[in-house]
Amino acid sequence: MIADALKQVEKILDDWRECSHCGLISTLPAMRPELTADCPRCHHVLWRMRSCNFELPLGCALAGALFFFYAVIAPFIEISSHGQFQMARIVTGPYQLAAQGFDAVGLLVLGVSVILPGAKLLIILVTLTGLETHLLPRGVLKDIFRWYEPIKPWAMVDVYLLGFLVAYTRLAVIATVHLDTALFALVGLMVSTAAANAFLDTEAVWRALDSGEPVRDCAAPSDEHLLIGCPSCSIVNRAMPGDTCRRCDAVLEARKPASFGRSWAFIIAAAILYVPANFYPVMTISNLVQSRDFTIMGGIFELFQRGLWPLGLLVFFASILIPVFKLLTLAIMLIETHLRSEQHLVGRTMSFRFVDFIGRWSMIDVFMISILVALVRFGKFSSVQAQVGAPCFAAVVVLTMFAVNAFDPRLMWDRAAERHAEPGHIHRGAEPA
Ligand SMILES: [Zn+2]
Ligand SMILES: [Zn+2]
Repeated sequence: MIADALKQVEKILDDWRECSHCGLISTLPAMRPELTADCPRCHHVLWRMRSCNFELPLGCALAGALFFFYAVIAPFIEISSHGQFQMARIVTGPYQLAAQGFDAVGLLVLGVSVILPGAKLLIILVTLTGLETHLLPRGVLKDIFRWYEPIKPWAMVDVYLLGFLVAYTRLAVIATVHLDTALFALVGLMVSTAAANAFLDTEAVWRALDSGEPVRDCAAPSDEHLLIGCPSCSIVNRAMPGDTCRRCDAVLEARKPASFGRSWAFIIAAAILYVPANFYPVMTISNLVQSRDFTIMGGIFELFQRGLWPLGLLVFFASILIPVFKLLTLAIMLIETHLRSEQHLVGRTMSFRFVDFIGRWSMIDVFMISILVALVRFGKFSSVQAQVGAPCFAAVVVLTMFAVNAFDPRLMWDRAAERHAEPGHIHRGAEPA
């Protein structure tokens, strides 16, 4: 009888979710296609249910994979000037950046424009075909699918295409530009990946990987154990920090480890590098007559001078405002958390979601530079050389993304709650009412 009752309690636990933005544990509603389950406290989406089965996201990912292969092997742009001709594949930019001595920037561009978008598609393809065909053990599929969420923000084909748009306006001044077929494959890749992403119900995938039930039962209720939401598959575990998730074997932590220290370290490093990133030129454009250095701001002024206001404003927002906004918002959030502020907790949590969402768009200028150095190689007639500002700026973008990643917004709610309780007596992961 008691064993049956305990089993029943565990079943209920399978439907609980810890909100990763405010720490509230609530019960998921019953599956209803196209229903979105939000956190009742901070409105973070806990489960966006999809009415389609896995065939639609699988089809989109398959189309994405075909576009991906074509986009990698075929040239996407050609330019001609002074009787000479240059063409670029997506990998030419990273290669040329490395050849000019900027290996780290080249590797970063290669990672976020080729390797990680490919990996993201591969994860969807392997997991969903594995579910259909039973060729791979469920444990292996779970190990693979666990990487889907962490990789998502780093696959930047959409941002790359905006970087291409800015590069195109500069190339049109230097040479005659011909768009090639791989560019359309890149657009196809962006659309099909976004569609696969939109149609994929990750909770439904995890449930299918479980075949109905998590691998392990929960620990029995006790004073030492906390209720911890898994950072990968989001199921709630009754566990100790450092234990592994009963569904996907990810390591469980009640809160992100050393969140304050790591966030501050990344913020300070990014703020320091922001100065050389804007002070030093990011590239030099040379031709027979002159050689001109461009800082980030100089590049934006040039777009304004040529009447390209929308593009100039876009780059100004992405390259200048977003990094400053992110650093200031995060620093204010950290200070308010230290002060155990109870003010605007929902607003602060929503601001966190906003800075998390906008961060990757700052990569536009880095992609623009990689495309220009790939193409403008006409010797003394015209050439583009990356400069020391470029790695500094790329580091600012990456460090601000790391800073957002390291910050645990649940700490804002924990610290605010500590005002009304003895520190150390906050019961993290209270059971839902
Ligand atoms: Zn929440
Ligand atoms: Zn898990």
